[in-house]
Amino acid sequence: MNITGYTCTLCGGEFPYEEDMLTCPDCGEKGILDINFDYETIKKQLNRDTLAADPTNSLWRYRALLPVEGKDWERFLRVGWSPLYRSNRLERELNVKALYIKDDGINPTGSLKDRASAVAVMRAKELGFETIACSSTGNAASSVAGNAARMGLKTVIFVPSRAPKGKVAQLLIFGANVISVEGDYRQTFELSRAAIDKWGFYNRNAGINPIMIEGKKTVSLEIAEQMMFRPSDWVAVSVGDGCTVGGVYNGFNDLVKLGLIERVPKILGVQSTGCCPFVDAGNANRPLSPAEENTIADSIAVGVPRNPEKALRAVRESGGRWIAVSDEDILDAMRVLGRTEGVFGEPAGVTATAGVRAAVSAGIISPDESVTVISTGSGLKDVVNAMKAAGEPFSCPPDIEFLANSGRIR
Ligand SMILES: *Cc1c(COP(=O)(O)O)cnc(C)c1O
Ligand SMILES: [Zn+2]
Repeated sequence: MNITGYTCTLCGGEFPYEEDMLTCPDCGEKGILDINFDYETIKKQLNRDTLAADPTNSLWRYRALLPVEGKDWERFLRVGWSPLYRSNRLERELNVKALYIKDDGINPTGSLKDRASAVAVMRAKELGFETIACSSTGNAASSVAGNAARMGLKTVIFVPSRAPKGKVAQLLIFGANVISVEGDYRQTFELSRAAIDKWGFYNRNAGINPIMIEGKKTVSLEIAEQMMFRPSDWVAVSVGDGCTVGGVYNGFNDLVKLGLIERVPKILGVQSTGCCPFVDAGNANRPLSPAEENTIADSIAVGVPRNPEKALRAVRESGGRWIAVSDEDILDAMRVLGRTEGVFGEPAGVTATAGVRAAVSAGIISPDESVTVISTGSGLKDVVNAMKAAGEPFSCPPDIEFLANSGRIR
């Protein structure tokens, strides 16, 4: 592995690499670690020439930049290398110079979380674990369950009882041991932590385990490569725990360190007004305080985010901004993405697109800038909210006269 050690995001302490170290020994659980990479060695393994010659169409293209030994990657579900679409209609509608959609809903279990889960499953196998556990609002759970099933690992999954049925169905189909917790996400997380301590499972909780964010960063590596190493001015992404946005930053930052891009794009962190602890803290420049979890975008309904430092840093260091959008704006973005581009996102999946509209209106993104929105998850997992956005179909008897007279078809 091309790892030189860890740095604590809280106290700045540096530590040599140890395979079972999850958080800072001095700061405890709040001391989330950064993994430091040996870029000089990586440059030899991963550069424009090696990438041009590499036919791998999954996130394992970038295994030199991942915290795993990385054998056996061909046997995994195919995660990553998702399409990047330019959207002429949406760029006119949103009034930006160019708009690109990175559709991560096409991953094997339907969300960007597959990137972290694939890396987690790889690492758990390398360390000899038989069972992986995590708590999740849904997608992390279903992705770890699916990726683990393929590689023959067991999973114990804690979800809050409000998790959408589609995601719970996925878990059960993938054979996970599903614990539906009668409580909110914070209580779900606490129970999973206690269970991991008690039974010694591999911990896929993204806030704590520093390798998760490194899996998620592959979305940025792909965006950059798909844009010929000239990424857009902005990259917009929805934020719950903060790992995804932290990963987006880490990926671009790696490429800067490798000399493959000039600078990290400005990152737009988007939340729902119903649950926006980062927006409140980021704009007021103060620490996070717990927020209510009151939004249809269940995947980002995280009142007490587990990765505040990395998320705040991503937006700050990239020169980006935080913005919140209403649930109505999110439902509207679901319709717009579906109608204009054929991309069906779940509420949290389209939140970034809603955020771009709001950021253009607020003068944060200017009309001569280009933007990539990351669509983080598929809408098929949550048809109840999709129907809220889309409405009901026209109900018609099997009668052509009735249909003609209805005026429905012109
Ligand atoms: C998890 C998730 C997010 C947010 O990721 P965090 O790491 O929790 O910030 C956004 N969209 C979807 C679809 C997700 O599943
Ligand atoms: Zn520390």
